[in-house]
Amino acid sequence: MLLNRVFSIVVLAGAAYGADKTKVLLVDGQNNHKWAETSPVMKKLLEETGLFAVDVATSPAKGADMAPFRPKFADYKVVVSNYNGEPWSAETKASFEKYVRGGGGFVSVHAADNSFPEWPAYNEMIMLGGWGNRTEKDGPYAKFREGKLVIDNKPGKGGHHGKRHAYSLTTRDARHPVMAGLPDKWMHHTDELYDSLRGPAKNIHLLATAFSAPDTGGTGEDEPMLMVTRHGKGRVFHTTLGHDVEAMRCAGFIVTLQRGVEWAATGKVTQKVPADFPGAQTSLR
Ligand code: ZN
Repeated sequence: MLLNRVFSIVVLAGAAYGADKTKVLLVDGQNNHKWAETSPVMKKLLEETGLFAVDVATSPAKGADMAPFRPKFADYKVVVSNYNGEPWSAETKASFEKYVRGGGGFVSVHAADNSFPEWPAYNEMIMLGGWGNRTEKDGPYAKFREGKLVIDNKPGKGGHHGKRHAYSLTTRDARHPVMAGLPDKWMHHTDELYDSLRGPAKNIHLLATAFSAPDTGGTGEDEPMLMVTRHGKGRVFHTTLGHDVEAMRCAGFIVTLQRGVEWAATGKVTQKVPADFPGAQTSLR
């Protein structure tokens, strides 16, 4: 009895310190977006699920020596990137590649898919990227046409968005754990709608698209918004959403981030779909 009680206390103490939680490393420090505002928001959104303990690895500032930036990726189940900046050292890149190939999870949020245009393995992980002088040399476009993902090799710039606005996302694989139970269509709060991303585009498992409307400066095509892939034994979730703190108020952004991080870390999603998940109207927190 006494032993049982001691054991319970130890277990409870462990829980209080997050010993039972999935360890997440959020990487930031450089971005053409306001990473110092959005990283604390993402940390809070992940931790409020009760599932995750989030550490943050902040790189040196732009222009500083990147060599000291050597996060211990292997200590975590999943790495979430809010980083769009200068190349990491060869050692850090190699360590990250080894981590994901060996089964580590990776989540790319919004402009993290602008980063590292010249790092082949990173581009394979994110599947599609934008800006950073990406063109046909970096791989094809990927569009959703007539019910399926289509690879388009036409030349042109990679990465663009029209005017910020609220827009509808359409689920393209309702059976994937990240999407299971979410509506077929839901309204996302005002955000950039990335279009014309290009990259290796290998093994894209498309979860959701959005129509990039010409009247807001878009392409007139259904563009990939949420996607996953495998990289070696690792799982990758790529969300193009989340330009700023305002866009991150969308319950749809929040829930797909929370679910995508869990899936990348464990291959499963145990979180229930909350009652405030958006449908025909936006839903803000
Ligand atoms: Zn943006």
